[in-house]
Amino acid sequence: MQDAPAKNKRTSKEVRRVIGHVTGKSTGPTVVFFGGIHGNEPAGVIALQRVFAKLKAVSPDQFTGECFGITGNLPAFSKKVRFVDEDLNRIWFLHRLEGLRAARNDQSVEAQEMLALYKLVTEILETASPPFYFIDLHTTSGATQPFIVVNDSLLNRKFTASYPLPVILGIEEYLTGALLSYINELGYVAFGYESGEHEDPAAIVNAENFIWYTLGLTGFYPFSELEMEQARAKLYQSGETSRRFYEIYHQYLIQKGAFFKMLPGFENFQIVPKGQAIAVNGKGNIITKKERQLFMPLYQEKGREGFYYIRGVPRFFLWLSKYLRKLKADALLVAFPGIRWASSKKEAILVDRRIVRFFAKSIFHLLGYRTREAGKHLFILKNRERSSRNAEYSKAIWHKKRP
Ligand SMILES: [Zn+2]
Repeated sequence: MQDAPAKNKRTSKEVRRVIGHVTGKSTGPTVVFFGGIHGNEPAGVIALQRVFAKLKAVSPDQFTGECFGITGNLPAFSKKVRFVDEDLNRIWFLHRLEGLRAARNDQSVEAQEMLALYKLVTEILETASPPFYFIDLHTTSGATQPFIVVNDSLLNRKFTASYPLPVILGIEEYLTGALLSYINELGYVAFGYESGEHEDPAAIVNAENFIWYTLGLTGFYPFSELEMEQARAKLYQSGETSRRFYEIYHQYLIQKGAFFKMLPGFENFQIVPKGQAIAVNGKGNIITKKERQLFMPLYQEKGREGFYYIRGVPRFFLWLSKYLRKLKADALLVAFPGIRWASSKKEAILVDRRIVRFFAKSIFHLLGYRTREAGKHLFILKNRERSSRNAEYSKAIWHKKRP
């Protein structure tokens, strides 16, 4: 690749755009891992270096398909900062990509990184074979046990249910422009894995265990049933929080230039009682009005998401939403006044808030829609089910299993 390699103190070797690429003798799944999309998160990159060093020692006729390890933000990685000009995981918008492809002037360091990654992903999609899996390795600024973050499509849900880890749904309602949301909208399995706190050596080990288990799960690496059980046990032991589906229902967004500081000592998934001060902003303490479960408290300077609140998703809701989505029950929604398809592709609906007051957000969630504001009175709700490439995954072992 043409990108200049980056050096980072915590990695033993030079870091290149393509950390590793292994092709098996027989065709099969293509598994793509990203590390270092945020330059201050070296754990994923180091874990990928270790895994590829081991894969290289194995004969390719053991593998089925292809596996890639890719570094996200090389300039930020060499400076050990989250980003240089802007967050590489918040800029994946079609208009921005189109501008870059048309070679319109875009001075941002991260825009150039995005273009390089876009070209690489496009090349992989064109030359490798399905089913495709895209996994983004991250770490957090505060203490945490490992977890998965995923956009809420049935395909993503079904795949991530195979991990003995907490899975957080619904981040797409609060974060825009994430690399994996972009890939998800193309219909592929794509999700994020957070392996621990940035500087914790355990975050590297967790990421390594996670990569191996994923290589087994996708069918790329020929683990025996016993080996898969052992790999699963390692992930299970990486944390104690209930391994279930959670949903984000609140985000504290830091306004540009506003003061925000988390009070010290809060951990990811911590349950905070009512009436407790958790952070400080320009107006004083931020105090919980109810018992809350805290998610991703911000303990670094860069970043605009202060913290989130999450709650467990009831099993019944998961079950019901699966059937409603399979029945394409959302087609009934557009019969209501104030709700219409956004385009003839039927991948999104527009909801006029002045007319539609009686629908709870949870009804849209059930049907596979996540809301974004599209104007003063307008909501746009995107449905991932209609773009999911389900058929490409139907022969995978994990797909045949009952949930
Ligand atoms: Zn990150």
